[in-house]
Amino acid sequence: MESSCYIGGPGVGKGTQCTRIAETFGFTHLSVGDLLRKEISSNTEYGAMILETITKGKIVASEVTVKLLKTAIESSETDRFLIDGFPRSEENRVAYEQIIGIEPEVVLFFDCNEEEMLKRVLHRNQGRVDDNVDTTMQRLKVFEAYTLPVIRYYSQKGKLHKINAIGTEDEIFERVRPIFAK
Ligand code: UDP
Ligand code: MG
Repeated sequence: MESSCYIGGPGVGKGTQCTRIAETFGFTHLSVGDLLRKEISSNTEYGAMILETITKGKIVASEVTVKLLKTAIESSETDRFLIDGFPRSEENRVAYEQIIGIEPEVVLFFDCNEEEMLKRVLHRNQGRVDDNVDTTMQRLKVFEAYTLPVIRYYSQKGKLHKINAIGTEDEIFERVRPIFAK
């Protein structure tokens, strides 16, 4: 099995670019945010806790997210995964590596300023409970406090690819392409 991870702040374009990367380079795209939202809509045992955590802009316990990821990976017939929006904290990263047993080969970091992220979140109209000013400000704080250390970790390991997330969808995809087109 092989995995790459895609991280970046809220609304930075992870989902959009992951879809294109997955199609072009043959990955199975797993969005952890989408896996969590699926738990909420199917009212599973974790649904209420996940809804509360997402509404507050906080990070769901690794125990839950890694379990969901593991199930998705195991039930897939493929063995190349592009993991979108994860790991979001050092705790997430360690839990993933312990439970899944591998480290991602490539980590993409979408870099964008906060004003632009806030603007994109407020304009995407997907009806998400967390796409409002208060929750997004909280998500930006959580990103700085918990996700930046993960970015630093992968950078020190030489796995991080930092991509400027300002531009058109096509422009950004052209920045990503050389990383996978080897
Ligand atoms: N989330 C989480 N752990 C993850 C991924 C997502 O707890 O590994 C929660 C968290 O509350 C986050 C929300 O789900 O704010 C939305 O995540 P998603 O990646 O869908 O948001 P995006 O960054 O794409 O706006
Ligand atoms: Mg997303």
